[in-house]
Amino acid sequence: MMESISERIARLKQEKGAVILAHYYAPAEVQDAADFLGDSLGLSRIAAGTKAGTIIFGGVHFMAETAAILCPDKTVLSPAPDAGCSLADSIDAATLRKWKEAHPDGIVVSYVNTTAAVKAQTDWCCTSANAVKVVGSLPEGRPILFGPDRHLGGHIMKVTGRKMELWDGVCTVHDVISPEMIRKAAGEHPDADILIHPEAACSSDAETLAADNVFFYSTAGMLRHVAGSGRKKFVIATETGTLHQLVKEHPDRTFIPLSPGLVCRDMKKVTLEKILGCLEHGDGRVIIDEETRQRAMLPIRRMLELE
Ligand code: SF4
Repeated sequence: MMESISERIARLKQEKGAVILAHYYAPAEVQDAADFLGDSLGLSRIAAGTKAGTIIFGGVHFMAETAAILCPDKTVLSPAPDAGCSLADSIDAATLRKWKEAHPDGIVVSYVNTTAAVKAQTDWCCTSANAVKVVGSLPEGRPILFGPDRHLGGHIMKVTGRKMELWDGVCTVHDVISPEMIRKAAGEHPDADILIHPEAACSSDAETLAADNVFFYSTAGMLRHVAGSGRKKFVIATETGTLHQLVKEHPDRTFIPLSPGLVCRDMKKVTLEKILGCLEHGDGRVIIDEETRQRAMLPIRRMLELE
């Protein structure tokens, strides 16, 4: 009998000593083929800790780059090297360099959704899971530039009370999540918890922040919240790929996407066929020049050591 594509992937993975990492926004079948699932922070940790010689990164390209920064001794393959991200694409290293020249005591905090070149100009990396902790740990009285997500930056300013200059970038998926959408969902589902990603446009809205059934979480934080909650119903205000794991882990509960249109088209560029191409032909190898890699590793290491 002919092997299915999933069976071929499973066999080749074993033969080649490879692991597949997938983000919660990747297509459901890619999530199901993965050895490890996670959000940006979780996957960075797994990449740094795996003993496998080859990592296939089922996410957008900057994520595979982050794994390559952390794992110089491993082969990192990106199944969809053309999978961009509106945040990573909005910020550039040259402008950061100029800001640092103008602010010699300034601190650049970059969300992990950035290229290796931008990380190389960054003092601290953060993800949505640890941004509050990272910013809260910075010394007082020094200028801070936070980029590229202005909604996440605004949310952190509200929560920590720290003043920061914000880069004007957005995630085009989460940018459409307005306070009105949240209020409408809260009115329609008064018995639900509403879980919102802090990249959402509503994430610094005072009324949204004050509601007691509204919670802001990274994707992994949403999964933890549901696992520890007695509620039966949840409105999920993030990329709809997240629902795949939630439904799998909690078939007895109801999950309602805030909008079925919350889909990251770049994440969906990762397919089983492309993963097979990585395994069969070594497609999508991520190469970063060593000087950039070493400089880019420092802010990621700082972030990981803070945890
Ligand atoms: S969901 Fe937004 S932040 Fe995540 S990869 Fe897509 S565009 Fe980038």
